[in-house]
Amino acid sequence: MKLKKGDLFIALILAAAIISWYGINKLTEPEDGRQIVIEVNGDLYRRIPMHEGMKRQEIHINLENGKYIDIIADENGAYVRDVICPDKICQKTGLVNKVGQSIVCLPNKVLVYIDGNIKPEVDGISY
Ligand SMILES: [Zn+2]
Repeated sequence: MKLKKGDLFIALILAAAIISWYGINKLTEPEDGRQIVIEVNGDLYRRIPMHEGMKRQEIHINLENGKYIDIIADENGAYVRDVICPDKICQKTGLVNKVGQSIVCLPNKVLVYIDGNIKPEVDGISY
């Protein structure tokens, strides 16, 4: 089979189309790889990868002096359902689901935040 100039041109256009489609697809891709991270006393307690249709999880954490915090994590994000906390700011924060958002419970030293990459990655495509 002989490759004609025209074929090469079409191949190049196709390649360019695929690359740009891939690039656009990456950019419009919803924030992927999100994780709900729970830290207690500055230590990682749990890391839950978020994905559509994931099972709702109830995380009950026993704290010092008989206190506790109940965190709900599902595909919509995470929130504090119940807590023994003097200010309850953590509970009032409500749902967090965007990368960088966090729930802080200062009195109990509990931190819940959403981790993940928001910046579209540029893979080694050089021109
Ligand atoms: Zn609190």
